[in-house]
Amino acid sequence: MDESDLDIKNIRKDFPILSQEVYGKPLIYLDNAATTQKPIQVIRKIDEVYSTINANIHRGVHHLSQLATEAHEEARKTVQRYIGAAHSREIIFTSGTTGSINLVASSFCRSQCKAGDEIILTAMEHHANIVPWQIQRDIMGVQLKVVPFTEKGEIRLEDIEELISSKTKLLSLTHVSNVLGTVNPVADIIRLAHNYNVPVLIDAAQSVQHEAINVQALDCDFMVFSSHKMYGPTGIGVLYGKETWLDKLPPYQGGGEMIAHVSFEKTTFNELPFKFEAGTPDYVGSTALGEAIRYIENLGLNNIRKREDRLLRYATEKLLQIPGMQIFGTSDKKAPVISFLVGGIHPYDMGMLLDRLGIAVRTGHHCAQPLMDALGIEGTIRASLAFYNTEEEIDALIAGIERVAKMF
Ligand code: PLP
Repeated sequence: MDESDLDIKNIRKDFPILSQEVYGKPLIYLDNAATTQKPIQVIRKIDEVYSTINANIHRGVHHLSQLATEAHEEARKTVQRYIGAAHSREIIFTSGTTGSINLVASSFCRSQCKAGDEIILTAMEHHANIVPWQIQRDIMGVQLKVVPFTEKGEIRLEDIEELISSKTKLLSLTHVSNVLGTVNPVADIIRLAHNYNVPVLIDAAQSVQHEAINVQALDCDFMVFSSHKMYGPTGIGVLYGKETWLDKLPPYQGGGEMIAHVSFEKTTFNELPFKFEAGTPDYVGSTALGEAIRYIENLGLNNIRKREDRLLRYATEKLLQIPGMQIFGTSDKKAPVISFLVGGIHPYDMGMLLDRLGIAVRTGHHCAQPLMDALGIEGTIRASLAFYNTEEEIDALIAGIERVAKMF
C-alpha cells in the first residue's frame, strides 16, 4: 500500500469520536500530541477481553487465566516486534512514559550513581523527563546538566559533547519535542554518548506513532512511550531496556508478580520482565495496545509518516500567511506538531474561541516550562496532527484563527 492509497475518508470511519459535533460544529481534533483518538478495533478489543477472557493472569491454572495470560504475553511480543527489540523480556509494561521514566530514574540512580554524578537532559524535555531526575537529585545528590537548543529549536551534538564529563552516568532526552516538533538526531546522539560510555534513554512518547523505530539499530539503552499517544488505551505504556541494563537495575516497586520467593527474612525477585511489573498488570490495556500496533502496521508507518509530513507542510505554509504569526520550532526535521502565537493574542483566548468553532487545540506550557523559559514566553497554542486529519480541517483552523485575530 502506498500513501496515496490511504483512504482517509474510510479510515476516519474507524474513529467513532471523529464524527461528533461540538457546539453544533463538526469536531476538528488537533490535539493528537496530548492523546490520540482510538479506532473501533481497539475499543472492541477492550470489550472483547472483558466479555470473553477476563481473569487475573500468570498465577491461574484455569482456562480463562491462561487465555488472558496468553493475550498479555502476545501483546509483549507485538511491542517487541514493533520496536525491533531483541527479546520480549526487554519489554516492561508500565503505566506510561511517566511511569517508565520514574522507574529508570529511581532504579538507575539508586544502583548506578553516587552524589556528584551527572545526568544530562535537554532544555526541550517534557516535565516527565525532568522531575523524576530532580527527585533523584534530592535523594541521591546527582547533578543535572541541561543541553540548550538553538533558535530553530535544534539540539547540537557539540553542546552535548561539551557537557559530558567523567561523572556523566546517563543522557536522557526526547526523540521529538512535544512543543517544537523537532525530531532530534538520536542515532548520532547515541553514537556520540556511547563513545564516552554514557548510556542513553530515549523518550519516544512523540515519535513512536509517527516513524519506524528499531531499538537495536538505534542502539539506545532505554526507550519509553505511552499507549494512549499511539491510538491505544490510556493507563499503559512501555519501558524498553537492554537486557544487560535491566538485569543490573533493582526492582522499582515491590508486590505480587515481581517476586520469586517471599519470606519475612528475605525476598528473591522474579526474572525479567516480571521483576519490574509489581501487582496485577493491565492485561486489558496491553492487549488493546497490541491491537493499536496492528492497526498502525496495517496502515503502514511509512504511509503514515508521508501523509503527516504533507499535512505538516500544508499547515505550516498556510499558518505563515497569517499576519503576526510566530511559529516556535522551525527545524527541517519535524513531527506534525506546530506551536505558535498570533500577534499579542493570549493562547488561552485563542484556544477558547477556537473551541467554540469545534476546533480542539492545546494551549499553555505543554508540560515544558523550562522550554518556555528558554523561549521567554509563557505558553503557545499547539496544533498537533495525526494521519486522520485532513487539509479541510487545516483550512478550518486557519479560517478560525483569522476570525479570532479580527476580534482582537
Ligand atoms: N514525554 C513527552 C515528550 C510527552 O509529550 C509526554 C506527554 O505529553 C510525556 C513524556 C508524558 O506522557 P504520559 O503523560 O503519557 O506519561
